[in-house]
Amino acid sequence: MQTETIPLWSPAPGTRRELLVYRFGSDASTGPVAYLQAGLHADEWPGLLVLQHLIPLLTKAEAEGRLKGRIILVPFANPVGMSQNIFGYVTGRFDLTGRGNFNRNFPTFNVGEFEIDALPDDLGPGFREFLKQSLQSRYPDNETDYLKQLLLGLALEADFVFDLHCDDYTAAHAYCADFQQAKAAEVAGILGFTHLFTEPLDGVIAFDGSALKPWYDLLAATGNTQLAAEMPLAMTLEYRGQIDVDDALAEDDAERLASVLQHCGVIGGVQPEPRLCEVEISPLQAVDTVYAPETGLLVFRRQLGERLKTGEHYADIVRIDQLPPHNRLALRARTDGVLMGLSHRRLVRPGDQIAKVAGTEALAHRRPGSLLQI
Ligand SMILES: [Zn+2]
Repeated sequence: MQTETIPLWSPAPGTRRELLVYRFGSDASTGPVAYLQAGLHADEWPGLLVLQHLIPLLTKAEAEGRLKGRIILVPFANPVGMSQNIFGYVTGRFDLTGRGNFNRNFPTFNVGEFEIDALPDDLGPGFREFLKQSLQSRYPDNETDYLKQLLLGLALEADFVFDLHCDDYTAAHAYCADFQQAKAAEVAGILGFTHLFTEPLDGVIAFDGSALKPWYDLLAATGNTQLAAEMPLAMTLEYRGQIDVDDALAEDDAERLASVLQHCGVIGGVQPEPRLCEVEISPLQAVDTVYAPETGLLVFRRQLGERLKTGEHYADIVRIDQLPPHNRLALRARTDGVLMGLSHRRLVRPGDQIAKVAGTEALAHRRPGSLLQI
C-alpha cells in the first residue's frame, strides 16, 4: 500500500488542508482499477467507517498476492466541508464560500477535441490520457473546485467508481446511470442494498455521473461499440442514515464491498460466495421526493421501510401556530412505494425535504434529469 498526501490550496493565512489517498496494487498491473471515496458531502459519516474497515482487508489481500488490479481509496473526500463547523455542527453538503453542492459541478470535457481516428486500436487508454491531460490544463480558481478536480482526476483512472454517501434516516440504497442498471443491480445485491435508483445522464449529474459522462458523450458522438466495454461502472452508495456509524454494520459492509471488488475482478483468490439480496429498482422519476408544504412539527405515522399505497396517510405536519389548537395537515402518499429518506428535522418549513417514497411508475410532477429535486 502506498499513501499520498496532496495539499489543497490554503484558504487563509496559516491554514492548509490535505487530501489523503491510499493506493493498493502495483502500478504495473494491467488488471481493472477501482476507485472508492467516502464523505464527499462532509456530514455523511457511515461510509468513512466502512472504508476504515475495508483498508485492512485490502492490505491483507495485497500481502497475499490476491490483487489482480489496483485500488485507489480516498478515506475522506472533503476536508473542506469537514472543517465547516458552525457552533458545534458540521454543515456539510453545501460549500459555505458559495460554491454550491459539494456533489455537483465537477469539471466537464469537450470530447470533440479527442482525436479518435489517431487511436483506432487503443481507444480506452488513449481517451483516459486525453482526459488526464485535459484536467491538468485547468486552472480552478478556488480551493473547492481544486478539490473537485483532484477527486475526479483520481476517479478517471478507474474502471469502477464507488462514491459512499448516506441520507438522514434510510435503508441502504444505491444510484446508477439508467443504462448501467444491470451491472449496478449485481453490485447492489452483493452489497445487501435493497433499492437501486436509476437516473439519466442528460441532466444534473453528481460525482458518479461526472466520471461516466465523457465516455457517454464519446459513445454518443462516435457510436464506437468498443467504448461500451471500456466505460467504467460508476455508482453512488448510500450507507443508510447519518448516525448509522456502527462497527458491526461497517465490518459487514466492508466485507461485502471486498466481495464486490472480487466480483469486479480487482481482487482474486478463493472467497466465499457473495451473499446476494433482492434489489428493487426504481427510476428516479418514480421516486417521490416529498417537500414540506408548510411550516410545523413533522410527525411520522408510518415507519422507515413500510410500503405505502397511493393516498395513504403516512405523516402529519402539526400547525402549532394555528387555531383551533392541534390542527394538522395530513401528508398522503402520491404513489405506491416504500417509505425512505426520512428527515431528521422535526420542525420544518416550506421546501424542506422530508421523505422519499420509492415507487416504480414515473411521476408526472417529477422534472426529468434533476436528480432529487422536483
Ligand atoms: Zn451525499
